[in-house]
Amino acid sequence: MNLAHLLVRAARIDGARTAVFLDDRPIHGYGVLMARASALARAFGTDHHLRPGDRIALFMRNHPAVVELMFACWWGGYVAVPVNAKLHPKELAFILGHGGARLCFATDDLAGIADQAAREAEPMAEPGRPSARARVISAESAEYDRVAARGHAEPPIEAAPDDLAWLFYTSGTTGRPKGAMLSQRNLLAMTLCYFADVDGIAPGDAILHAAPMSHGSGMYILPHVAAGAAQIVPRADKFDPGAIFELLGAHKGVTMFAAPTMVKRLVEHPRVARADLAPLKTIIYGGGPMYLADIRHALAAMGNRFVQIYGQGESPMTITALGRHHHADTGHPRHLQRLASVGVAHGAVEVRVADDADRVLAPDQAGEVLVRGEAVMLGYWRDVNATAAALRGGWLHTGDVGAFDTDGFLTLKDRSKDLIISGGSNIYPREIEEILLRHPDVAEVSVIGRPHPEWGEEVVAAVVLRPGKSLAVDGLDALCRDSIARFKRPRAYIAVESLPKNNYGKVLKTELRRYLGGKESA
Ligand code: AMP
Repeated sequence: MNLAHLLVRAARIDGARTAVFLDDRPIHGYGVLMARASALARAFGTDHHLRPGDRIALFMRNHPAVVELMFACWWGGYVAVPVNAKLHPKELAFILGHGGARLCFATDDLAGIADQAAREAEPMAEPGRPSARARVISAESAEYDRVAARGHAEPPIEAAPDDLAWLFYTSGTTGRPKGAMLSQRNLLAMTLCYFADVDGIAPGDAILHAAPMSHGSGMYILPHVAAGAAQIVPRADKFDPGAIFELLGAHKGVTMFAAPTMVKRLVEHPRVARADLAPLKTIIYGGGPMYLADIRHALAAMGNRFVQIYGQGESPMTITALGRHHHADTGHPRHLQRLASVGVAHGAVEVRVADDADRVLAPDQAGEVLVRGEAVMLGYWRDVNATAAALRGGWLHTGDVGAFDTDGFLTLKDRSKDLIISGGSNIYPREIEEILLRHPDVAEVSVIGRPHPEWGEEVVAAVVLRPGKSLAVDGLDALCRDSIARFKRPRAYIAVESLPKNNYGKVLKTELRRYLGGKESA
């Protein structure tokens, strides 16, 4: 089945229902969205001589056209390559060349970068075809609209389950990004798992794209189209909690996908106490660690609206989920442990924790998280070695370290590369971060290892203090003394104004290590 049939079905059921909003303004109904996607798909073939399987990059800020372009790709059998809008021209040039994108749709604010990147890209060679630089097309031009308005053409092309649908370049904080090849089957599994394990969606509900549509929020276009719900694209390019609260008033049944840092900003916004949250149905958080103190605050401030997912580009949005009912189950004897976990395996995948030799570990033993099943990528685009390493033995090696409890709840420790080894002992930064966040003066914290001549590494905490507070090392150390082994206690605390984060709200520990490695500690 072609994913585009989800759009066809929604359009048949109710073509007049609004499919896309810009802020509070309806942009298209489902019938028009379908006609535009199909017209664009035809134009890729007729006007640009693309063949099914060709890649089409989307280098766009969040914009209504992202929705129709993704479906246009699938409609015609092309591969969508959504790219993080904050990338440097050189990074985009790498993706365009490596991915062999023949077209690159850009919003006007990014067209200059896209042009530069397309000129610098070294296009891949394809047997039997002249290699071509990506042609940059504005998704905001009158010409683009004219093509999209040509009207509904042929039905979606036949697609096989393993046909490539989305080339997901990893946010890669180190080294070259890798292109996780996501198939039609992978995205359908992700969509069905949404309904089974994350949330129900009714026609007339909506997803508000407060996070980049090139990543998790964009993945969730699919279940919302499957349910005949709407996409709300905020006009503001930056995440603005005040504007989000404002926008909620114009909609109902709203879901948002948010990184934990975004949830924190919503919870700490002065409007949260007086905002009418009735239209906000669900906040799905994930993409980085949610600390226990933070989710407890969030539940107290915003009520039982939260679902957590754990996924990665290689098994998109679909490794484990912690449902709304688990957030609400305060009477359960292990409620807090569950809140600190990432929940249980999604229905379409098997998840296990294994040692370095891939032997399955018993509950409560920490090891690498492995995943197998319908959501797991086909492999990495043009990277046989990385594919063989990541998928060895038929299991995706996530690089995340975690442990299951006896009930099947997975608690993540850290990325294996963030593990600190000091004096031969393994130290998981997250454990220390959870403790330091209990201190009332601490707004954010990130713990890293710094080279040490004797111990190999020593533990260092970078602390963002609340306004007007100063670093009180004794108080922080006392907290640690109360809760964790001596060898895990930070040897240095460094007050920082902010933590380095990527466009998706993930703390860039590699950058932090580089920055703190050479600095004198407090
Ligand atoms: P990406 O491929 O950019 O989506 O990044 C995936 C990585 O983000 C995972 O391998 C985890 O390290 C992290 N991650 C995703 N979801 C969660 C979560 N719920 N809790 C903690 N870390 C997460």
